[in-house]
Amino acid sequence: MSEDKSGAKLALHIRILIAMLGGTVAGVLVNTGDVAVDGEINARVVESTVGFQLSEQIAGATSPEDQIYSASFGDRDAFVASFPDLAEVDATDTIEVSNARARITHGISSVSITWQREHNGNPAVTTISAASVDKLPPFWKNFVQKNPPGVRDHVTTAAKCLGDLFLRLLKMVTVPLIFTSLITGVTGLGAHGRFGSMFGRTIVYYMATSLLAITVGLILVNIIQPGAGAILPGGGKALESPDQGLIEVIYNQILRLIPTNPFSAMAGGEFLSIISFAIFVGMFINVVGGDHGRRMKEFFESAFAVMMKMTGWVISLAPIGVAAFMIYATSTQGLGVFQTLAKYMLTVFLALVIHATVILAIVVGVVGRRNPLEYARQMSPALLTAFSTASSNATLPLTMSCVEKRAGISNETSSFVLPLGATINMDGTALYEVVAVLFIAQATPGFDLTVAQQITIAFTALIASVGAAGIPHAGLVMMAIVLQAVGLPLEAQGIIIAVDRILDMCRTSVNVWSDSCGCAVVGTAADGTSVADSPEDPATEDSAPGD
Ligand code: ASP
Repeated sequence: MSEDKSGAKLALHIRILIAMLGGTVAGVLVNTGDVAVDGEINARVVESTVGFQLSEQIAGATSPEDQIYSASFGDRDAFVASFPDLAEVDATDTIEVSNARARITHGISSVSITWQREHNGNPAVTTISAASVDKLPPFWKNFVQKNPPGVRDHVTTAAKCLGDLFLRLLKMVTVPLIFTSLITGVTGLGAHGRFGSMFGRTIVYYMATSLLAITVGLILVNIIQPGAGAILPGGGKALESPDQGLIEVIYNQILRLIPTNPFSAMAGGEFLSIISFAIFVGMFINVVGGDHGRRMKEFFESAFAVMMKMTGWVISLAPIGVAAFMIYATSTQGLGVFQTLAKYMLTVFLALVIHATVILAIVVGVVGRRNPLEYARQMSPALLTAFSTASSNATLPLTMSCVEKRAGISNETSSFVLPLGATINMDGTALYEVVAVLFIAQATPGFDLTVAQQITIAFTALIASVGAAGIPHAGLVMMAIVLQAVGLPLEAQGIIIAVDRILDMCRTSVNVWSDSCGCAVVGTAADGTSVADSPEDPATEDSAPGD
């Protein structure tokens, strides 16, 4: 690899950084902005025996064709949670709608419209999606036909397709990589009982850092108070609740440790099942030993070498994938919601930065005995990819490759700590859950936030982060558990969905950073090495994938 050693080719992390910045600039340039929705709009809220109904129509409309938006709510609470800007509205009332505009996002097989307006002067946002223009409600179909996609929309759609192809390549290598890597790691540990001590340290590390992240979140949200007096944009549909209590979340995770059919677990990409089965296979290869054991061990070592090489090739495409994702992310975002939720976003962001650059840096420095800055540089391709894809799972092949090839940590450590960490160790997500739920609580009129409730939120946030999958928006879905635990309405999530993507990108980077730091901590103990006594091997660096 040419990294830092020859000027002929830029280091991978520099190329990814350039791709990210370039993608962001290109995304801002192709951002088409919002389109004004012409015509005077009337909105009406009506209470009936079955609940609340909100409808918005072009003025003078006589047919349902001219309906722009309509939604029903089971009761007043559900209505207010979705449209807090209308909390003061009476059961039967006409609402003044102003400053109406919409943003159209075209996909290959989807079209969605973010419909923004003000209700009695307060901002409201709703998203309407369909598989094709023809399937949209009549008004919006007409609206999209009158505003057909231009070159900029095509660039956005192309970027999304390119990004998705890269993501598929990453996903393609993930399961075989985890499986072969973990078996090779466990057989490499041999039958000396080192596995048990590594397991213990890893779990302690996961729990301790998640709790520290939650504490940072709690402190900042209480100091900044982003929700106090906030005027929240209403609308957005609450995500479907995972419909699980705390005990079920924990129990389901334990059940997943024993797959009834390991092959279907692999086909379904169920990480926990794959991890435990691979550990079993590795352990029993050691137990069997002899010729059979040796042949199996060699087979998986060879398979792992092939998967690492393939991963390296996929990683070399990371700059293209990252640029594509950044173009898509920046070209499809409107600025309005960012202004409204700025204080909330700032709180999440500040807390994540403090956790990553102070708490985890100290842990890596003191316990992992590594220079945190140098370690961050070594991990940067994975961190930047985590940022642009918002998925720990998709980033896993990069994380494993960076930890092993760039930071020189043994495969025994990384093959165990990283896949498990991508599944259950999510510091960024835990911190985010706490800040978001307390933000909603602070912004909910009449909700009395006690210390006991804050502790409940902290505990449930930890469980929710363990249960969240390493995929985009998983933290938002799991938040339902935390909201339920303190009796906040699930619909309240509608207000923060609009800005979840950018926060997801930030918290996913912290999730991956924490997993990487875990490798440094656990690796130091398990291998008895640190950077000080095992400097990066140039030969290993030279074969680092992607460089
Ligand atoms: N996207 C995050 C991850 O993959 C999970 C979350 O939504 O918080 O790590």
